Amino acid sequence: MTPDNEVRFRGCLDDVAAYKPGRPPARSDGRPTYKLSSNENPYPPLPGVLAAATEAAAQMNRYPDMGAVDLLEALSARFGVPVSDLAVGTGSVALLYHLLQAAVSEGDEVIYAWRSFEAYPIAVQLTGATSVQVPLTVDARHDFKAMEAAITERTKVVLVCTPNNPTGPVVRADELLAFLDVVPRDVLVVLDEAYREFVREPGIVDGVEVYRERPNVVVLRTFSKAYGLAGFRVGYAIGHPEVVAAIRKCALPFGVSHVAQAAAIASLAVEEQLLERVEALVDERTRVVEELRAAGWDVPDSQTNFVWLELGEDTVAFAEAVQAEGVSIRPFAGHGARISIGEREANNLFLAVARDWRK
Ligand SMILES: *Cc1c(COP(=O)(O)O)cnc(C)c1O
Repeated sequence: MTPDNEVRFRGCLDDVAAYKPGRPPARSDGRPTYKLSSNENPYPPLPGVLAAATEAAAQMNRYPDMGAVDLLEALSARFGVPVSDLAVGTGSVALLYHLLQAAVSEGDEVIYAWRSFEAYPIAVQLTGATSVQVPLTVDARHDFKAMEAAITERTKVVLVCTPNNPTGPVVRADELLAFLDVVPRDVLVVLDEAYREFVREPGIVDGVEVYRERPNVVVLRTFSKAYGLAGFRVGYAIGHPEVVAAIRKCALPFGVSHVAQAAAIASLAVEEQLLERVEALVDERTRVVEELRAAGWDVPDSQTNFVWLELGEDTVAFAEAVQAEGVSIRPFAGHGARISIGEREANNLFLAVARDWRK
């Protein structure tokens, strides 16, 4: 018999809930199935991107360029920021982990809105620091007055998810800038802009503009959503050189693969075509939100590629009803469900269930 495992791990791991990935859709009687549970881009890769990745795969016997020099240069040209202000990682979630590892440990506090991105509580807990979750307003937005009130001398990091996953609204320029003015200058503010390319609300500040004047602000962006590279794991951070240097110290060596670097560079080269697809997804989002509201649903504004339905105790039953049509969505039991904008047929299957539900 195998003896009991007596290996000791850090106490902060005890309460870490495992990250729940979006469910794959269940097979149902041979009809097509759709995954609207992970905010993925439903479009297949563009030919140029696929070709670049395929060609890069031929070098799998070599380590990737650890400095990601070509990708950093492409990002530098794209955003007009120096290479010293850029870091890449295996998804922007990895960069978030690196930032937290660099900035916090036991006894420190990390403030963020709740509900927000599922990865935040896990990432904070792994460092041994304490999460301070500030409830969203009734219209599912960040409550910056309450977040300001939550700042203590133990606060080291504030996470701002804009637009917010899973509820959808984007943070407005005036409220963000006013908040940044009251955050102590030694507190790191992380602007998680994973859905930036889907924002159409006018007058929104771009993190890439905000960080320039503010050394304690760092922006996280990703190729996973708008650019359709979720499976390759590439994200980037834009911040002042001291912040970027801290990220680099915590990064795993050779994290971003050669294939992923090549695909990201190729994606920037065909960005116009990719952003046309984003435009089509935004049109679909508008249609889905309008149809839900017409059916009597109270849907928060979405500046993302998903919509949020507050369902309370009905959440799991609703997700199962949608699943029965071959479409998986993301339920948060007892609270609500997040439904990604996907193929038109998938959106229509979901809408049909949502309409019936109101009757
Ligand atoms: C999807 C998402 C990310 C990006 O994750 P990657 O690790 O880059 O795939 C980051 N933040 C939020 C809020 C997200 O929803």
